This record gives sequence, structure tokens and C-alpha cells, in this order.
Amino acid sequence: MDLQTLALHAGYEKDSQGTMAVPIYQTTAYEFRDVEHAANLFSLKELGNIYTRLNNPTTDVFEKRFAELEGGAAAIATSSGMSAIFFAIANAAEAGDNIVCAKQLYGGSLTQTAHTLKRFGIEARFFNVHKPEEIEGLVDGKTKVIFFESLTNPSIDVADIDAIVAIANKHNILTVVDNTVATPILCRPLAHGVDVTVHSASKYTTGQGLAIGGILVERKNLTEKLKNNPRYAHFNEPDASYHGLVYTEVGLPPFCLRARLSLLRDLGAVSSPFNSWLFIQGMETLSLRMREHSANALALAEFLESHPRVKKVNYPGLKSNANYANAQKYFDKGACSGLLSFEVATLEEATKIVNATKLYSLVVNIGDSKSIITHPASTTHQQLTTEELEACGVPAGLIRISCGLESINDLINDIRQALDA
Ligand SMILES: *Cc1c(COP(=O)(O)O)cnc(C)c1O
Repeated sequence: MDLQTLALHAGYEKDSQGTMAVPIYQTTAYEFRDVEHAANLFSLKELGNIYTRLNNPTTDVFEKRFAELEGGAAAIATSSGMSAIFFAIANAAEAGDNIVCAKQLYGGSLTQTAHTLKRFGIEARFFNVHKPEEIEGLVDGKTKVIFFESLTNPSIDVADIDAIVAIANKHNILTVVDNTVATPILCRPLAHGVDVTVHSASKYTTGQGLAIGGILVERKNLTEKLKNNPRYAHFNEPDASYHGLVYTEVGLPPFCLRARLSLLRDLGAVSSPFNSWLFIQGMETLSLRMREHSANALALAEFLESHPRVKKVNYPGLKSNANYANAQKYFDKGACSGLLSFEVATLEEATKIVNATKLYSLVVNIGDSKSIITHPASTTHQQLTTEELEACGVPAGLIRISCGLESINDLINDIRQALDA
């Protein structure tokens, strides 16, 4: 079935009331029929609800539906995008291991991998997403994950997924891709051989800036790669914390099984049923919105490119953009989502423009139906010097826009009056 159909129907069997909308199962726990039933659930002889930290029927629909959209075998919803990323890495790596990450990452992912994971004994090594060949010099016997974003936030680069996956597979290493900005509607990394995708559901999935959440999706047949792979002994040896379970021998998608039974159980970063329900509402219109976000962003980028005060526009849908070829190859009909940035001469000019816009809100978020404008040099990248800003691709005059669903005429008119003010 097409993605738009799956987004409306996948993963939901109507309950005894025939409820059209997926119900919110707002509960902490579930009654067992008897002691044997309880024992069977705990030993996985039967699958079913135990406690909402482990599973919940509303969250289950969100997970199944999202897994279908992404073309995966299973998914785990988490309390935020950051916890989905942490789960994906912590499920593969432990103290003494390393991970190889693209330099072009979301700010929170950079601090998590470079600093927080280091405190847990996991070392992050970085490659330029435009130079996958750098990966070869970074991997060794202790490398457990290669992590990158399909469409990077905030630098707006498009990864050459096939090139990175080929290197990872040569070494039998798991690839984890953050597909937040592209969404499964525009890009499907699992179809290119990626093993696990992660998302911040807080962005385009909710779509209206309503809730924080995350999700991790495992590809089909991942058991083949994990089974007897010496890098991933913990998927092939009995887990003492789960009565000797061997994750690759259960017959269920092993990556999600372990993430649920050990990480969700013990770390508890679970999606609330209400937030899962909001994400389900968002998914119903995701494909319509992504097309509109992309069309608006392209038209705005083309307008900005034509304006004399604008030095440079970064949007992979523009023919002038270095990522154009990758965007045509990996994104559905070359549609590139709603994120774009542009550069004016100075910090002062940028500040004036941002302050002069009326329709764009000054907010550190992306993927909202309402348009958002940010000035990285005075906010997220404030601590850096002018030279450091240039080095990490965030010049002082850079303005970032998350293009919303307002009429494109209004979006262009508002930016025009701000530029001309
Ligand atoms: C926002 C974002 C995250 C973090 O997600 P939260 O839901 O805010 O925790 C991770 N990756 C990307 C690409 C993001 O844009």
C-alpha cells in the first residue's frame, strides 16, 4: 500500500466499540487473567500488555504504523528524539567501544555522542558526511555504530547513504540514521540497507509543535547481520538480566526486542499514551504536509536566491546546491522538506531581518506547521568566535528557516519586507 494509506490505517484493529479514532489507553498497568497468564507474558511465551513502561496499546499503534511507513520490522517509541538516539547507540555499544558519527549532526546529538556517551566509556569519532571514505580510517574491532543524519539539521546536507552503508557492511557494523528532517515520506533509509533509523517525533511527526517524543525503527531481517556477528556478542549470548534470553533466537526483531526488554525496562524513557496519540494524529497528514512544506521551502529558497541582499541560499532542492544530486537520488521526487538557510553580509543585518519578520516566529524548533526563524550565531552557536562560526558552517549572517504551511505568498511577502526594511 502507499504511504498515505498506511499512515491512516496501519497498526490499528478497531476495538469492540468500533472506535474510528485510535483510543488513548491512559493506564499504568493491565490485569492478568491468572498467574499462568502473567508468567507466560513475562517469559514471552505469550505477547501482551504488562505495564506501560514496557508496552501500551496506543503506543503500540504508533510504533506499528511508523514501522510500516519506514518499511521496517518493528519500532520502539521513546520519550524524546534524544532518548531514541541514546537507545539506538546503547543497544549496540558499551563501555570500551566506539561509534563513528558524521560531524554534521543535530546539536543535541553532538553533545550526546562527544560528551555524554564519553562519560559512559563510549568514544565518538567523527567523519565529514561529504567524505564517507574517512570512515575507513576510523573504524576498528570495537566500532559498534556508524551514525549520521539523512538530511542534516542545522547544516542542511544530504548524506550519500549508499556510500556509507557500503563501508559499514564491509565491516559488518550497524548503521543508524537520524531521519527526522526527511521523514519516511521523503526518504526511506532502510530501503538503502540502513539497519536502524531514529526520529525526533517532536518535529514533522507531530507536525504542529505539540509534544516531545522519539522513535527507533529496525529494518527487516536484521537478525541476519547480528547473528553470530562477533561485534555484537550481547545479541548472541544469554542475557542474565532476562533469564538467559538470547535475542537473536526468539524469532522477533532482535534490536527492538532488546531495546524494549532491557533499555525501556531499565531506563524508562517511554512515550506517554497521550503523546503517542498525538503522533498518530500527526502521521495521518504527514505525507500531505511534507509535500507542502517542501513546495513552500523551494519557492521561498528560489525567491531568496533572487534577492540582491542575500549572499547565499542553502536548500538541497536548488540546482545551485552542492547536495542537489544526493537529494534527487534519495528523496521522493526530489522534495527536500522544510529546512533552509540563507546568508546576509553581517550579524547586524541578520539581527535586523529576524526582528523585522512578522509571520515567522523566533523559536528553536523545526517541523511546525507555523514558520520558524532562527539566528544560530546569537542563540545555539553563541559561544563561538567569528572564526569558529565560519569553520563549522554557521557564518554570523546566517538565518535559518523552518518553512511552515502558511500561504507561500504571505511567506515571501513577509521576508521581502524584512529584507527591504
Ligand atoms: C530535534 C532533533 C533531535 C532531538 O529530538 P528531541 O525530540 O528534541 O529530543 C534529534 N535529531 C534531529 C535531527 C532533530 O532535529
